[in-house]
Amino acid sequence: MYKFVDQIYLNEEKCVGCNKCLTNCPVPGANIAYLVDGNIKIKVNPEKCIHCGECIKVCDHDARYYKDDTERFFKDLQSGKKLSVVAAPAIRVQFRKYKKLLGYLKSLGVNFIYDVSFGADISIWAYLRTIKKYNCNSIITQPCPPIVNYIEKYQPELLDKLAPIQSAMMCMAIYMKKYAHIKDDIAFLSPCIAKADEIHDENTHGNVKYNITFNKLSEYLASNNIDISQFEESSFDDMGCSLGFLFSRPGGFKENIGYYIKDAWIKEINGTEYAYDYLRGYSNNLKQDKEVPLIVDILNCSNGCNFGTGTCSKCVSAERIDQVDSEFNKLKSAKKKDKGGKLFRKKVDWLHGYFDKNLKLEDFMRLYNRNVVVNNIVEPTEEQYDEIFTKLNKHTEESRNINCLACGYGSCKTMALAIFNDLNVPSNCIDYNKKEVINEHYISEARNEFFTNISHELRTPLNVIYSVLQLESTYKDTLVIDDIMKYNDIIKQNCLRLIRLVNNIIDVSRIEAGFFRPLFKMENIVSEVENIVLSIKTYVDNKKMNLIFDTQKEEIYLSCDTHLIERIMLNLLSNAVKYGREKGTIKVNIYSKDSKSVTISVKDDGVGIPEEMHEKIFERFQKVDTSLSRKNEGSGIGLSLVKSLVELQGGTITCKSVLKQGSEFLVTFPIEHQDHKLSENMESHILYKKDSTENVDIEFSDIYF
Ligand code: ADP
Repeated sequence: MYKFVDQIYLNEEKCVGCNKCLTNCPVPGANIAYLVDGNIKIKVNPEKCIHCGECIKVCDHDARYYKDDTERFFKDLQSGKKLSVVAAPAIRVQFRKYKKLLGYLKSLGVNFIYDVSFGADISIWAYLRTIKKYNCNSIITQPCPPIVNYIEKYQPELLDKLAPIQSAMMCMAIYMKKYAHIKDDIAFLSPCIAKADEIHDENTHGNVKYNITFNKLSEYLASNNIDISQFEESSFDDMGCSLGFLFSRPGGFKENIGYYIKDAWIKEINGTEYAYDYLRGYSNNLKQDKEVPLIVDILNCSNGCNFGTGTCSKCVSAERIDQVDSEFNKLKSAKKKDKGGKLFRKKVDWLHGYFDKNLKLEDFMRLYNRNVVVNNIVEPTEEQYDEIFTKLNKHTEESRNINCLACGYGSCKTMALAIFNDLNVPSNCIDYNKKEVINEHYISEARNEFFTNISHELRTPLNVIYSVLQLESTYKDTLVIDDIMKYNDIIKQNCLRLIRLVNNIIDVSRIEAGFFRPLFKMENIVSEVENIVLSIKTYVDNKKMNLIFDTQKEEIYLSCDTHLIERIMLNLLSNAVKYGREKGTIKVNIYSKDSKSVTISVKDDGVGIPEEMHEKIFERFQKVDTSLSRKNEGSGIGLSLVKSLVELQGGTITCKSVLKQGSEFLVTFPIEHQDHKLSENMESHILYKKDSTENVDIEFSDIYF
């Protein structure tokens, strides 16, 4: 059974949700963004994490950290447990006085200390023999655990290409156990966080029990005030390495194997930003039967194991890298220089002869986990993508392709994919947040505008009513019946104006709150509209206007809510009367251009509306500010309500108008509304009925005129 090793952790308090970890993570879904009290935090998903260490490296806030076995190792050693150690070649880089460190460990009771460079020599021998024995045409090197993790979890099709050989560390440990007969538990002095995965993998048979990273080891020494320079130097207990120590630098494997196989195509890939992309491309090439290298020498860390994930990342600099390289070069030429290299050649041949004679290749072979694929990200359908984008306030193609990288992915589509898979949250999208801020701003502006407008519209008729009542009471003894009738009429008109305004406000807010659903019925829209037109005749006559009703057919059946049709028509007709010409003509026309829709037109020959306002007048509180229309008071709510009522029934409304010539409002409805069926068994759900004005006993149309 494959065990996920939990190694990289989040310090939630330190995480500021900057998304750098997400940006730099090479695999999908290994980071999960979530909200804590409205703040973004990003945690590790241990199942998907390959322990490449990038998130720890890039986090400026120290919010990501890892654990290793350093404390446990020293505790066990102090309690008398028999332990031996294998040290990565990078020990030469990480501890200048590494021989003193070895002396210190020996002083604590460590039994044997072997150099993994010697294990690297064994592993090179194993590679050469394997390539020859199995006639391999392409092989991926495997000393780097994040690479192994990645292939096991994300590209299992490459498992057969992953070298079936244990790493240099494991080769060393196997040699110690099987051939040097060391019975102790073995600890690895390590440059790599992810070596823990290899150590705990059942395919490495528990040969190594502790992963002690150089970083944590330095911290341990510092926090316990241990000065290693006080200790005697000690050397490694193995027979001494060949070129294996070069393993820890980028291309070190190539330098080793290249010594034995001349002119072979050995591809060197180093660094998180290239390695995983390369493996995807390599896999595609294999699928298409294209040429691939004989050996892919691949490492997760761009500066190799010398500056691995378990070393001090802040200590890496270009100067230091060159310095280390030059030290390694010196060591290399020291190894090779004797007698023009002849002696070295002899030594190498001897070493491989020794291995052939004394080691069994099978002991150093390795298997891999085959059923740990974790790439279970579900791809949404087009509709589901659309839903997520809508949630993100992304309604246009352009806004769905901003691809700004702020969320960490660099593509809006990947962000939508992550949200769909519960790996991220909308508020981690900067574009979404910007729009939310702008919306907030508009909402608060609209709210302010609403209160300014409404208070004016409410106060004006109330002031008129109050003044008239004051006048009546002051002159009560002298008023004649004609005066009283005149004053009462003014009061009545202003009361109606108030009722209309209050009704409109209530309707708009109910529609906005989503409380309202039309009750669709198949109705003859021609007779419905004709009755409404007839009901306002008196008001049209008062202005000496002409009212013409025209229809293409006597009967046109439409799926609609007749209460709403009445509200729409009364609003449009009252505007036509208000803004129409004295003695002018109002034309109402119904026609159906095809069998799918019906259009109702309300046309006047009045003041008209300037072109730039043709769309705006449907927004709330929009009033045309021309000398022609200003004399008509109004709240600017009517047309926005009409638009909502039309849209609730699946229709559209447009305005055609020429200044001083007149305006035409065209309302088009689909004959059959998709919610029609739904309404058949539905209780009436009307937001506003005639009887809501029953207390004042007035005609519905009176409110509008
Ligand atoms: P109001 O209560 O102000 O009439 P509406 O929302 O019904 O509110 O209309 C908004 C504005 O559109 C009006 O103030 C007016 O300037 C203009 N308008 C509406 N209908 C007409 C029309 N038929 N002719 C000219 N202007 C109109």
